[in-house]
Amino acid sequence: MPSTFDETGNASAQQHLSCFVIDDCLAIDAGSLAFATTSIQKKQIRDIVLTHAHLDHIAGLPLFIDDLFASLEEPIRVHATKEVIENLERHIFNWEIYPNFSELHNENGAVLKYYQFGIGTENFIKHLSLKALEVNHKVQTMGFLIADKKSKIAFTSDTAEMDGFWKDINAEKSLAAILIECAFPDELKKLASQSHHLTPAILKTELRKLKNTNCPIYVINMKPVYREKIVKQIEKLEIEDLRILEVGKIYEW
Ligand SMILES: [Zn+2]
Repeated sequence: MPSTFDETGNASAQQHLSCFVIDDCLAIDAGSLAFATTSIQKKQIRDIVLTHAHLDHIAGLPLFIDDLFASLEEPIRVHATKEVIENLERHIFNWEIYPNFSELHNENGAVLKYYQFGIGTENFIKHLSLKALEVNHKVQTMGFLIADKKSKIAFTSDTAEMDGFWKDINAEKSLAAILIECAFPDELKKLASQSHHLTPAILKTELRKLKNTNCPIYVINMKPVYREKIVKQIEKLEIEDLRILEVGKIYEW
């Protein structure tokens, strides 16, 4: 989902917030969920899976529930780890920053319910299976293997160098795509290390850990002010199958 506008008022490729919608009915992270989703998506998205509780991944969640409050016929189901749910309740839905929607009801019942998911096991939501795989970020963060009956993709969310994640990915027979972050350019290697993110050079080293998979790899979650620099540095890596995920584009796998 786009998150930012350019000078002409159109969606910009620069991405401040992280939100991916699958089959118009499930969102992975809620950064721009309230702002960028279509009216059909607003009607259909009732399951939101959170990778972690950093602001750029949850910013659109309170307003999404607020906008839909009166019209919800079923609750918004937030799927996350225990730690993320506790952080949302403590720091966001605490009546100070925003109402605690999990205590509120509309005429049809509850408007927000939490579903704690298991790490390393398959979790079934709608027609999808999501296996949460811990990655290496500053706070507890989950990447996912996401599958329907037809195909399976891997998704890292925010992360620095990983080992366990690649072990799980290498155990997969066939993946349709891998989405991996690259938040900072190479010259901000120190900041990337302090904040547990990747740069193009570190991404190259990470991709060497990937065995026997020749699916397309898409770069996501680039810090918007460094986007152009990061894209140039990624192009220079000349890694076959490595490309940038386009903002606002529909991908079919
Ligand atoms: Zn983060």
